[in-house]
Amino acid sequence: MSSDREGGKASQDSVINNFILGFKNKYDSLYRDPETSSLKEFKQKKKLLDQFKSEIDYIKHDLMKAFKLYDDCKQTFDHQANEITKILIDEPELPPPSTSASTNKKQNWASLVALAENHNHDDSDEAKEDSNDTKIKRKIREDNLQQNLIQVKVSNRFTIPAFKVDSAKEAPLYRLAYCDTTREFILRVTTDVIIRGNIGEIFTESNGLMNVRICTYQDKCKNRKSCHFWHDPTKTTSDDVMNFTAKSWMYEPETVGRRRFGNHKTLDEDIAGLTSDDVTILTRQTMHDILCCIILQRYVNRFNN
Ligand SMILES: [Zn+2]
Repeated sequence: MSSDREGGKASQDSVINNFILGFKNKYDSLYRDPETSSLKEFKQKKKLLDQFKSEIDYIKHDLMKAFKLYDDCKQTFDHQANEITKILIDEPELPPPSTSASTNKKQNWASLVALAENHNHDDSDEAKEDSNDTKIKRKIREDNLQQNLIQVKVSNRFTIPAFKVDSAKEAPLYRLAYCDTTREFILRVTTDVIIRGNIGEIFTESNGLMNVRICTYQDKCKNRKSCHFWHDPTKTTSDDVMNFTAKSWMYEPETVGRRRFGNHKTLDEDIAGLTSDDVTILTRQTMHDILCCIILQRYVNRFNN
């Protein structure tokens, strides 16, 4: 909390804040009743406003450069963190931990993976991170990914191979995982992007929809047995698989319930109006399609040719 207060104080004393106050004082000192103001005073005000505007533009320009620098550095950092994690997780299986060398190597991997995993966290959460690090290290030490590979039955005919995990946090990078607790597939695409979901039903009629829209109440929903909305298994105990309407694949940015993001030409504008529910729905729809792709590529040749 003390750092918040210090942050507030720093912002009050900032160069920008002094600059704003300076303008305000100068402008206020020129203020007179419009009826009694002289033409000269109006000219002075106009000049002050023009000067202020050009200085703001200058600051804006510099700030944009600062944001770009931040984005560039962040992008490079994320890329490096991902590469480190990828190399570490994709290392071939270790020999049995009978020698001290292999044990050390495992521990080094784990600490580097934990470092990459947690690079976005705040320093103030250090104690919490330590315990998370320990969990991750323990998990990675115990993990033999091949032993955890399971075949998840998604229909009478089809299974999808995935690495069994107990929570999304344990899902390995770039590999399809399946969480038994939330009963959903998980694909960790980068350290901070996770796609979750299942193959849902696709409704072609607008009536009788089930688990299509997101329940506003989630864990506070009082009508769980009769509620036709979808409850997120990561937020509340739920077996709900998200379903979709056929129209949710149709790009129509003005219409709720349709796909509102994904057209290359309008990506920049489209993102402005989207909500976290839109993100959840499109993400789960993406997992639906990824799983369909896996089935198609694994089974079409086997069954149809
Ligand atoms: Zn509900």
